[in-house]
Amino acid sequence: SMAENSFKYVIVGGGVAAGYAAREFSKQGVKPGELAIISKEAVAPYERPALSKAYLFPEGTARLPGFHVCVGSGGERLLPEWYTEKGISLILRTEIVKADLASKTLISAAGGTFKYETLVIATGSSVIKLTDFGVQGADAKNIFYLREIDDADKLVEAIKAKKNGKAVIVGGGYIGLELSAALKINNVDVTMVYPEPWCMPRLFTAGIAAFYEGYYANKGINIIKGTVAVGFGTNEEGEVKDVKLKDGRVLDADIVVVGVGGRPLTTLFKGQVEEEKGGIKTDGFFKTSIPDVYAVGDVATFPLKLYNEIRRVEHVDHARKSAEQAVKAIFASEQGTKIDDYDYLPYFYSRAFDLSWQFYGDNVGETVLFGDNDPTSPTHKFGTYWIKDGKVIGVFLESGTAEENKSIAKVARVQPPVDSLDQLTDAAGADVAVA
Ligand code: FAD
Repeated sequence: SMAENSFKYVIVGGGVAAGYAAREFSKQGVKPGELAIISKEAVAPYERPALSKAYLFPEGTARLPGFHVCVGSGGERLLPEWYTEKGISLILRTEIVKADLASKTLISAAGGTFKYETLVIATGSSVIKLTDFGVQGADAKNIFYLREIDDADKLVEAIKAKKNGKAVIVGGGYIGLELSAALKINNVDVTMVYPEPWCMPRLFTAGIAAFYEGYYANKGINIIKGTVAVGFGTNEEGEVKDVKLKDGRVLDADIVVVGVGGRPLTTLFKGQVEEEKGGIKTDGFFKTSIPDVYAVGDVATFPLKLYNEIRRVEHVDHARKSAEQAVKAIFASEQGTKIDDYDYLPYFYSRAFDLSWQFYGDNVGETVLFGDNDPTSPTHKFGTYWIKDGKVIGVFLESGTAEENKSIAKVARVQPPVDSLDQLTDAAGADVAVA
């Protein structure tokens, strides 16, 4: 009935931000029947980063319900029953195909209509596909992308079917680096291909990348840089069998994984809400240009107070925190109270093999490498400072302890002045004095 599809609050999207928003709604005292989460995925919100890590491991494998939110940040695990107990409607396998912000109406692919008073947009990102660019053969079987759990399941099947086969990983970013490691651990022969001079160029310096590329090479992963995949050959079953590179080389492949970036999913709202820098523009409370409409996570372009700039951040920590901020702001505005503006310190991390790095702050300015970035070093402990206007504003650390990671976060937040770069080079490990 109409009443069943009418909610005080609707979250469109059922990923990381939606899950953390649901927990905050509950903390704020949302009443049974007031909140609905509408998601095209078939499962309750989960910690997406697991999909490129333990979800693919042959041992110590992560499976749902093990990694539902909010375990990724050490919180309570929200099982599907939790939503039922709280009277939160979890409307799964439901893709919203039309949104009309003027009449506060959403329409699903199956023709269902949903009404809301307050909307939280948490649609996240979709992957950029090689078929988008018309790369020849890019629609072959066993060419995979990774965003949702269904994608990960297909990849797991292929790893089993192509036992000890060959994989080509297209892209040298987060997905490329984590997937190469995961496939290698599954005894797959792995070759990475990317056009840039080193991996993760948006964050890594040449010095940082040299460590990871050396480490991966020592694990037996082949790395081909400075060229791109321009076509795929297929067998009689329509499965990929090789990858043609722009430089003329042809690589055998049973499995291809493409990780060439994402795009925020804002299409539903195009022309209805202000956008900036590819996302939906918000204030420090994640309110959009339209009353009663909030946007959080990957899709939000928000004021990053610390750097006096507006930005979009596609990382899990921000997805969690922006969701909590938006829900607090919704309740504060209903109660006529005020909360502080979002004051985010960017935090990114990744894990692969026995490596684990964290980065806090901003990666602009001059850089100073510290520690031993020799890929064969026994500790793997090294890092990099970013210095701008005489202050440390970003810190990267590989294999830090919990204490050290806390201390680099503090450095990036406090931005201690440095008299000379030598001062930093001399500082051992992450023990830089916070002035
Ligand atoms: P998502 O978590 O993507 O959730 C969006 C949800 O909306 C999905 O459930 C989607 O199905 C749904 N949806 C979209 N459109 C519609 C629609 N029209 N109707 C209904 N539902 C819809 N970040 C890190 O910081 N560290 C990591 O190690 C890391 N690893 C990652 C590994 C992988 C494989 C991926 C894909 C991302 C990783 N990230 C990582 C990034 C991080 O997961 C995202 O930034 C985060 O998930 C964003 O949260 P979100 O809620 O905005 O979007």
